Amino acid sequence: MIEQWHVAVAALFGALIGSFLNVCIYRLPARESLVRPGSRCLHCKTPIAWYDNVPILSYLWLRGRCRSCRALIAWRYPLVEALNAAGYGFIAWRFGGTVDAYVYGLLFSGLVVVSFIDLDHMIVPDRITLPGMALGLVVGTFLLPRWWDSIGGLLLGGGMLYFMAWISPYLFGKEGMGGGDIKLLAMIGAFLGWQQVLLTVIVGGIVGAGVGVALVGARVMTRGAYIPFGPFLSLGAVVAMLYGTEILGWYGSLLTERR
Ligand SMILES: [Zn+2]
Repeated sequence: MIEQWHVAVAALFGALIGSFLNVCIYRLPARESLVRPGSRCLHCKTPIAWYDNVPILSYLWLRGRCRSCRALIAWRYPLVEALNAAGYGFIAWRFGGTVDAYVYGLLFSGLVVVSFIDLDHMIVPDRITLPGMALGLVVGTFLLPRWWDSIGGLLLGGGMLYFMAWISPYLFGKEGMGGGDIKLLAMIGAFLGWQQVLLTVIVGGIVGAGVGVALVGARVMTRGAYIPFGPFLSLGAVVAMLYGTEILGWYGSLLTERR
């Protein structure tokens, strides 16, 4: 069993990476450099000193305001850092110091960036999904049980949503799925394999539909409005990554008992 301090170190590392993910979420859609210039206040453009740039903690001791101009800092910054910290900690607790754990950490961070960019701009950036597909194929081919699991996952993930995109104008009279979602699920499939990508789309679809119905019911959203699907696919992928083997095993045992 993994020692507790390993989990703490992973979470700390996750918070630091989370800080960089904030930069990616903000700058990738704007096509700005991820390294230059350094972090600045979005309001007054004053460079942020390292001691005001400590993940989560700086936000707390600055009480959520810029030191120079007192403008409010979005609470999403510490949220993304905390989310990535929790993700890395959980992955370390679940998988220890295995190669899988590092790959899952990388995928988790990619999904965090994709989800927040999709929420902000309703796009899933190719600059993540295309290199992600290539990387997923390389590591998936080595790490998954069978050599074809990864390519199978990529084709099945992309194929399912491609089919949905093709058929939804006929079924619902409107566009259902963007090209970005297709590439995102293809990337997830390359990393996790064909079985887990099925679980991903089932979990993502159920939660997405539930949230959609709730938002329409609460009149936050009108029927037919567009909900970004990227965050739900990402959530499904995280469930599949963390508990997919158990869920599929449990489902498989149900099928064998029935026979
Ligand atoms: Zn400022």
